[in-house]
Amino acid sequence: MSILAKFSALAQARAFHIGAGRDPFRVVIEQALSATEGVIEGRTVLLFGTNNYLGLSHDPTCLAASIEAVRRHGTGTTGSRIANGTFDLHNQLEIALAGFYRRRSCMVFTTGYQANLGMLSVLAGKDDTLLIDADSHASIYDASRLGHAQVVRFRHNDADDLYRRLRRLGAAPGCRLVVVEGIYSMLGDSAPLAEIAAVKRETGATLLVDEAHSFGVLGEHGRGLAEAAGVESDVDFIVGTFSKSLGSIGGYCVSDHPDFDILRVACRPYMFTASLPPAVIASTQAALARLREAPELRDNLWANARHLHGGLRQAGFEVGPHASPIVAVSLPDIATATRFWNRLLDQGIYVNLVLPPATPDGRPLLRVSVTAMHHAAQVGAAVSRFTEIAAALGLRREAA
Ligand code: PMP
Repeated sequence: MSILAKFSALAQARAFHIGAGRDPFRVVIEQALSATEGVIEGRTVLLFGTNNYLGLSHDPTCLAASIEAVRRHGTGTTGSRIANGTFDLHNQLEIALAGFYRRRSCMVFTTGYQANLGMLSVLAGKDDTLLIDADSHASIYDASRLGHAQVVRFRHNDADDLYRRLRRLGAAPGCRLVVVEGIYSMLGDSAPLAEIAAVKRETGATLLVDEAHSFGVLGEHGRGLAEAAGVESDVDFIVGTFSKSLGSIGGYCVSDHPDFDILRVACRPYMFTASLPPAVIASTQAALARLREAPELRDNLWANARHLHGGLRQAGFEVGPHASPIVAVSLPDIATATRFWNRLLDQGIYVNLVLPPATPDGRPLLRVSVTAMHHAAQVGAAVSRFTEIAAALGLRREAA
């Protein structure tokens, strides 16, 4: 028997998707022309399926910083943070991020995925309990396997359920670490953080918020959901990523914990992988400065988010109740979703096709996201293509 035989069901599903048009999990962006346009299959298409919320991937100051750093410091560090991979650039970025969040300490990781793997597995040890939202990102689930804590899932965005589960733990030994997300990556909804912070206070748990999609997006200064909900002092650890609002790659954790620094020699996904290359650190540092000095980017992002969400809702699509830079359009079945997605790309609109089991309610969805850089005409074009394709496919929609 082939060692890959265990994936035969997956292979069958994949063959179906490829047969329906193109492989949705292997779309090739031949050139990223800007934050909003790319070349796919030789044609220029509008990008409505990235996480480039502030559009900083093509910001001139970020590009210049990156080019300068690669010239000065070379293409890579060739080592981990605890060996030869800590350059002054890494330290400077950690200081800048800690300052931005007004926290004592920061650790930078090579990806956001590794930041979650590292922080959750190192914080929740053998005798501890890790409490995670049922709709958590894969990196949070994977972290729960890497660590040795007991893992408890609570119902998505349900602070009462979290409270009940914490109470049920009674006097069991160990610490309780609660993990929620600022904006959930598939539906674009946010954790009820004020309620969760109240549960944390009452039960003495430790609270970590993954602000991957909310950093630079929520809060007056862009510090995320904790800032927007006014509960920063209740959040013990914030994890985030550079791969979304800052347009590069990398992860981080900030905290006020006085002993935070010990994690540099305890957290394996920090210790045993090569550090970020100079060009990435430099563009990230420049992007953080742009985020701080240009709040209008956030205003543009939200104007586009409201336009997209309102337009799709007006056209009768089933979208979430609140505007968000991520708008999830639920579709009735996989065949319709696959056909819809292919037609959108045929007509120059790139979005993400998300299929069960990666979707929260078991239904397929089209994940549509905007950036600060989209023009209103581009958002309008996306809404029009959605409407035309729905009509062509005879899709039932709710009257607006
Ligand atoms: N956390 C969440 C909530 C995410 O959505 C993602 C990426 N989609 C990550 C962490 C991982 O970040 P990265 O892609 O930068 O590794």
